[in-house]
Amino acid sequence: MAEPLETDFLVIGSGIAGLNFALLAAEHGRVVVITKKQPSDTNTNWAQGGVAAVLAKDDSFERHIDDTLVAGDGLCDRDVVELCVQDGPAQVQRLLDLGVRLARDSQGELDLGREGAHTRHRVVHWEDVTGREIQRGLIAAVAKHANITVLHDHIAIDLLSMAKYGGDPACFGAYVLDRASGQVKTICARATVLASGGTGKVYVYTSNPDVATGDGIAMAYRIGAAVGDLEFVQFHPTVLYHPHARNFLLSEAMRGEGGVLRLATGETFMEHYHPMKSLASRDIVARAIDNEIKKSGADSVFLDMTHLDAAFVRGRFPNIHERCLSLGIDITKQPIPVVPAAHYMCGGVKTDHHGATTISGLYAIGECAFTGLHGANRLASNSLLEGMVYSKRAAEAVRDAPRIRPAQVAPWSSGDATDSNDAIVVTLNWDEIRRFMWSYVGIVRSDKRIERALRRIEILRDEIREYYLDFKVTSDLVELRNLALVAHLVIESARRRKESRGLHYTVDYPDKLPEARHSELQLTNGPRG
Ligand SMILES: Cc1cc2nc3c(=O)[nH]c(=O)nc-3n(C[C@H](O)[C@H](O)[C@H](O)COP(=O)(O)OP(=O)(O)OC[C@H]3O[C@@H](n4cnc5c(N)ncnc54)[C@H](O)[C@@H]3O)c2cc1C
Repeated sequence: MAEPLETDFLVIGSGIAGLNFALLAAEHGRVVVITKKQPSDTNTNWAQGGVAAVLAKDDSFERHIDDTLVAGDGLCDRDVVELCVQDGPAQVQRLLDLGVRLARDSQGELDLGREGAHTRHRVVHWEDVTGREIQRGLIAAVAKHANITVLHDHIAIDLLSMAKYGGDPACFGAYVLDRASGQVKTICARATVLASGGTGKVYVYTSNPDVATGDGIAMAYRIGAAVGDLEFVQFHPTVLYHPHARNFLLSEAMRGEGGVLRLATGETFMEHYHPMKSLASRDIVARAIDNEIKKSGADSVFLDMTHLDAAFVRGRFPNIHERCLSLGIDITKQPIPVVPAAHYMCGGVKTDHHGATTISGLYAIGECAFTGLHGANRLASNSLLEGMVYSKRAAEAVRDAPRIRPAQVAPWSSGDATDSNDAIVVTLNWDEIRRFMWSYVGIVRSDKRIERALRRIEILRDEIREYYLDFKVTSDLVELRNLALVAHLVIESARRRKESRGLHYTVDYPDKLPEARHSELQLTNGPRG
């Protein structure tokens, strides 16, 4: 029987939150980072716009705080907003210190982009591939640190909980599948840190890469952690609509720099929905596009950059320009066909101001966490900032975490499970969940649609549970099980919210309730784990 691997800090995820945490925690302990594919297979790697921080002379913390609170529609935690915004400039400096390149203007100052619902220019960026540059910088720094081991192609299956050994449900590590060997390893740690990113794959149309299956949220929920605000799924209004391009996002910054939304006829339409027109917040723009597409029966609307200086557009959005050109669209000459797609999860595993969850020994940082920063709707470019701020705070908090673990840790047992002979079940269930979530629990919701989704997810989860017990665990099965649970949690959260607020819009309750409340689910009051 293989001995468990012991470390001080186990980090699940290699995006901005996981790697920045690893670098800081490695100053006072050994860190193992596991990541289910390659280290750069993250949402972070795809971020285009940048990181929001108050750096301009005409900007102030108060303005950034206000913009965040307005977008959050009554559900932001003001203390959290303040602590993130006020730490913004220092976190931008940290990125520079780590060797991350950020664009500068002709005076040598950091170039600040402007994005939807920001009232000032405040987004630092590297061309239109900011996330890729941050990911590169972090991976390079981690590679140089002797205290950090990165295990790629390792997927966490379940968290280890003392509850299984008769104690309180404290977390002391995870069972991890090595995808290459098929072996399940047991990794024990003083603190286990979920940095597992988003949930975009719950929907058939998403800007997220394949890794975004909500594993951290599902694993935490299964051992009893509180999760919250999962109905607040942000749909990005402008993902390229093209048969040969999957998930390609057209950054919010394109509208920030003057891009205008139009119908196929060339008419503009955002003036009918909001005074900020194409620069209104994402939920408003996504809903407007959804409505226009449904009204006209068209496949898409269009993002028009053709009135802007062509050299500026090519220089500011080189990656987008090149990608679209490769698909036959010259964005300096032609409007770009766009549709909305699932983009960001505002809710997640509930944490305190240091990333600690409701389960001792377990932390959650980055997109998988529900800190209270985003409320009912995230302000663009606040998430990379949150990832930096909370990874720092969590690294401070875990410093003296005690080692709690049973004397003997039970190894992973697959019982009588055999090798799967019916992989089609995984593919079909996966596909079905993502499609009905799009249709029933998407941009515009209703009681009837949510009830339909609920009936389907209950049946599918029973099937998946059976399949999970019968067959040896694979990464596809791990993801499907998690995706189904997260879908169930989103449906249940949406079902309980009897109002329209932020990103949750339902035709049955189009108004806001007078009091803003978070939705919270736990095993004791929510669906089965
Ligand atoms: C196209 C796009 C553009 C965006 N643009 C911006 C922007 O301009 N500004 C901004 O602030 N935000 C932006 N966002 C959002 C932002 O990129 C993410 O919220 C942020 O990068 C999340 O970072 P993270 O570290 O929490 O997770 P991620 O970067 O997603 O990393 C998650 C990691 O967890 C790993 N993982 C997951 N489950 C498991 C498991 N079971 N076992 C092992 N490993 C696991 C994954 O493999 C991955 O390594 C954008 C997102 C997308 C998709």
